[in-house]
Amino acid sequence: MKQKRAFIPIAHPDLHGNEAKYVESCLSSSWISSKGNFITKFEEQFAKYIGTKYAIAVSNGTVALHLSLVGLGIGKGDEVLIPDLTFVATANAVTFTGATPVFIDVDDSSWGISPQMLEKKVTKHTKAIIVVHLYGRPADMESIIPIAQKFNLKIIEDAAEAHGAEVSLKNKNKTNWKKVGSIGDVGCFSFYGNKIITTGEGGMITTNNSSLVEKMRMLRNHGQDLKRQYYHSVVGFNYRMTNIQAALGCAQLERIDQFLQKRVLIAQKYTMKLKDIPGIIPHPRKAGERSVYWMYSILVRKPYSLTSDKLMKNLGKENIETRPFFYPLHILPPYRMKGEFPVSNYLSRHGVSLPSSVFLRNEEIEVIAAIIRKYA
Ligand SMILES: *Cc1c(COP(=O)(O)O)cnc(C)c1O
Repeated sequence: MKQKRAFIPIAHPDLHGNEAKYVESCLSSSWISSKGNFITKFEEQFAKYIGTKYAIAVSNGTVALHLSLVGLGIGKGDEVLIPDLTFVATANAVTFTGATPVFIDVDDSSWGISPQMLEKKVTKHTKAIIVVHLYGRPADMESIIPIAQKFNLKIIEDAAEAHGAEVSLKNKNKTNWKKVGSIGDVGCFSFYGNKIITTGEGGMITTNNSSLVEKMRMLRNHGQDLKRQYYHSVVGFNYRMTNIQAALGCAQLERIDQFLQKRVLIAQKYTMKLKDIPGIIPHPRKAGERSVYWMYSILVRKPYSLTSDKLMKNLGKENIETRPFFYPLHILPPYRMKGEFPVSNYLSRHGVSLPSSVFLRNEEIEVIAAIIRKYA
């Protein structure tokens, strides 16, 4: 009987650096809660890596978005423009504030929020845009920034899937490379187990705005005054990260460039092996941008012989884990609404993410590609 192939997971974090050592030092020193050296160290080093003055560690990526919105003063009666194709947390964070998320179709090359559609949805209630750097490809910031400026909108970058991605932005005659999360008013990151670096659960907010940072630090800690203990001037949250999570984060951050490099090699190998299969289309990448490869994502469409669902099923039978794309937000029960979202509908129906962990071996990519090619 044919032996079943070893399971190939969609993601698998590499925790074999200083993670155990740093976590052990939290345990032996008993600094396991949300005070301790690793918190400040992780915040400082993450800010330095992204290229912002400040970073605030929080309990996950969803609350990073929520805290940013509250910090920016967004609430009831306001509208926030977000892409129709993203993880539901982007919309939920807006809903938590009492504001309304307004869905915008995505662009068929970047798969991020469409600058053309964006401008049409601005009303007198619009306060902010959340751009999502989907699957590690930066949103079209060069086109979005002027729209935000024209209508005086804040930009929040949901960079949960794009740690380390860079965009080149022209400033007068100079071209500057900037990391995502340092371009808008605030950047939000997630360190969930399958993200580019992980703390188990965890998140971070990056910004250059010193008054905003103070407000968010206060809100993160039950709204407690930064100088007066037990004096709570507003209703805040407990959105703190633990020292243990930050210890993991410090160790992960030491190796982020190595992880990103490995992911580039994986993507190159996939692209080479899947080349010229009719109807298999990789996520387009663009010159002038340094994408990161959180997931290696493809579209499966005619003339390929299988639908994306059937291909995922067949790969599953071979012990290969895949993920469909997100449902468009306008289809989900809490957000169901009519509207024209041809691109997000199309991408969601045809998209498949392939195994993308840093442990993925060349032979495994060859096996996956050969199976995909078999049904061409
Ligand atoms: C993962 C993710 C989040 C939420 O992060 P959590 O840490 O799971 O709360 C938000 N937005 C996007 C686009 C994500 O992929």
